[in-house]
Amino acid sequence: MDAVQGNLGLVDEETLDPLDWADVQALSHRVIDDAVDYLRDVRDRPVWREMPANVREAFAAPLPRSPAPLDAVYAEVSRTVMSYPMGNIHPRFWSWYMGSSNFTGALGDFLAAIQGSNLGGGNHAAGLMDSQVVNWCKQMLGFPASAGGTLVSGGSMANIIGLSVARNVKAGIDVREHGVAAIEKPLRFYGSEQIHSCHRKAMEALGLGNRALRRIPTDSGLRIDIAALRAAITEDRAAGLKPACVIGTAGTVNTGAIDDLQALAKLAHEEGLWFHVDGCIGALIAIAPENAHRVSGIERADSVALDPHKWLHAPFEVGCALVRDAAAHRGTFAVTPEYLESTPRGLASGEWLHDYGLQTSRGFRALKVWMALKEHGVEKFGRLIDQNIAQAAYLAGLIEAAPRLQLAAPPTVNIVCFRYQPDLTGEALKALNTEIMLRLQEQGIAALSDTTVHGEHWLRVAITNHRTRREDLDLLVRETVRLGHEIATQRSAPS
Ligand SMILES: *Cc1c(COP(=O)(O)O)cnc(C)c1O
Repeated sequence: MDAVQGNLGLVDEETLDPLDWADVQALSHRVIDDAVDYLRDVRDRPVWREMPANVREAFAAPLPRSPAPLDAVYAEVSRTVMSYPMGNIHPRFWSWYMGSSNFTGALGDFLAAIQGSNLGGGNHAAGLMDSQVVNWCKQMLGFPASAGGTLVSGGSMANIIGLSVARNVKAGIDVREHGVAAIEKPLRFYGSEQIHSCHRKAMEALGLGNRALRRIPTDSGLRIDIAALRAAITEDRAAGLKPACVIGTAGTVNTGAIDDLQALAKLAHEEGLWFHVDGCIGALIAIAPENAHRVSGIERADSVALDPHKWLHAPFEVGCALVRDAAAHRGTFAVTPEYLESTPRGLASGEWLHDYGLQTSRGFRALKVWMALKEHGVEKFGRLIDQNIAQAAYLAGLIEAAPRLQLAAPPTVNIVCFRYQPDLTGEALKALNTEIMLRLQEQGIAALSDTTVHGEHWLRVAITNHRTRREDLDLLVRETVRLGHEIATQRSAPS
């Protein structure tokens, strides 16, 4: 015993903890002060800017072998990473579909990392909070308290969770044991032709293959055509396939179209299909008083994917899958190896949250959502969603009133497609609008994206942003017209 202690005393052990905590404290205060300034002043910076060569080169530096003082490390991060963001926290970022984050959420991520728990499971506070945030998501969508659910990395993973349960429940065999090759009749899933690309990946990852997802035509509003869906199901059944699941989209990425969820719930019930809703964009509209009616029926789904890092503005990453039948959810993923068996008391007596998804170790992504919801209350998040939808209608009005701007269609929710239209067509029109989009980005004015709707190219503005003000949309319209005119004149000038 003495000998052992003696030996230990001689070993010069290392740790990652600082030698001087006071130094770290001072630096940390500076990091926080800088972070507050960074967010306070975000409006005054360009939305995005191209990185100079010396910044790009910094990311080719080799593996560091010797130490550097933490303040030098932080200085480099400020110069490189913090100075060249994607821009999605900026008030005039409307590309693709993202949230704009929030300071409280960032503090939550920081504290989650400091507390450091692994949310794979166990009896500790973070695990209970993770389950609580899932319960809050159920409440937001009107799901029963008895439903299952899990927090995941984002909407794509949340969809995979829901579709995995759908496959296993509808397979007619024990897929977990025997695999998809043992399924008697090939399973068919259905979604509209506007369905998000993550569903293709999901079908591939589930071993069903892309062709198992039948894309159904849409109506003039780009919503799934219910009659066409019914006909497809009948046709597939007659051809010896097994219709298994219909995926409704509550808010498509292209235009924000919301499928008729009530009609889909009814059809799924009549046809004996699983009803999954991809609510990555629109599920949270359920908390927005003026617009909640648009997603009515979502509470009837068998599973839903929603995305708190979009319209709840949580810092990336956090998505949520809800599954009405909690036993089917657990039955799809639970595996308890001998080294993770529960004990009647103590640390291992809590629930194993990894039994509800594909990950084993899980981060404490609940805290950033929890803190922001506590601080503001869910009603404010609902009002912010209504605000974005009203802003999209305002922008549509500005576009209609502006010279040479053309609106693709009145927006359903918060996505507006439009273009500058100076009597051009086809590729020339697309090239001009692409150039407008790129100059808006490169001049740091605004970030939009583009898409093709009904075979035509459009600029696309998705307002999922609690920092956007109407004056930002006024500016967008002004600058689009200015750039459109500038580019059109340059192109028509004799060279
Ligand atoms: C964003 C989105 C997804 C994917 O979600 P991620 O959080 O990006 O993984 C899926 N479906 C729709 C409709 C989306 O808008």
